[in-house]
Amino acid sequence: MARYTAHALVIGVHPWGDADKVVELFTAEKGRVRAAAFGSRRPKSTLAAALQLFNELDVSLTEGQRLDTVRTSSIQHHPKKLSEDIVTMAYGSFVAECVSEFLPEKQPEPHVYDLLRSVFSAFETRNPRIVALLGVYQLMEFTGLQLSYERCVRCGRLLSEAEDALFSESAGGALCSDCHAQEGTSSQPYPAALRRFIAAALAFDWQSGEKLTIATKDLLAAEAILIGYLQRLLGHPLRSLSFLQKL
Ligand SMILES: [Zn+2]
Repeated sequence: MARYTAHALVIGVHPWGDADKVVELFTAEKGRVRAAAFGSRRPKSTLAAALQLFNELDVSLTEGQRLDTVRTSSIQHHPKKLSEDIVTMAYGSFVAECVSEFLPEKQPEPHVYDLLRSVFSAFETRNPRIVALLGVYQLMEFTGLQLSYERCVRCGRLLSEAEDALFSESAGGALCSDCHAQEGTSSQPYPAALRRFIAAALAFDWQSGEKLTIATKDLLAAEAILIGYLQRLLGHPLRSLSFLQKL
């Protein structure tokens, strides 16, 4: 079976059998990959230390029918705060779960790999709640499932700078007040300030060193839109969110 090497970020680790793991990797070369790591829960396994959530690895794998198999792995970067601070870890798990749920398997997405790497590294120094919010807003833009934030989803009109509009996840995004009046779908207020924040979140440059500040009101509203939308897509609650709510 074909053997290949990849740069990978670990986005899921699941115990399997007595001594094995199934790991979920996001690779620069092949996108999301699920792979068996045989013996990796044995203390002496050379894979044990590397295959931990959020690590950045160089891996070699062989392709399989259902699952690939991890042959070797070496750690390129071990993110300290993501592995040790429970709150940061919880927000990191939310980002990882969204990648796992919404990015297709074995579809190369090098931009998503770069984004995920930037997001994981931002967790080391920035506010984890804001990093997770911006990270997932940006990730969803690569899924083909994105909402319309800037234009009315019905008439396609670009909302003007100071215009307060409505937002409906079921309709697929923003609604101008004319379309909303005609349609009467359930929706929430979508003030211009929130729209500006979401536009800034989507355009945020992780390399810039720019400060992340946001009014609590906008943070809560942007989270509500994102979470409502993710749960609608999934049809069930995200596991990482129930954990976050317990913190
Ligand atoms: Zn409209």
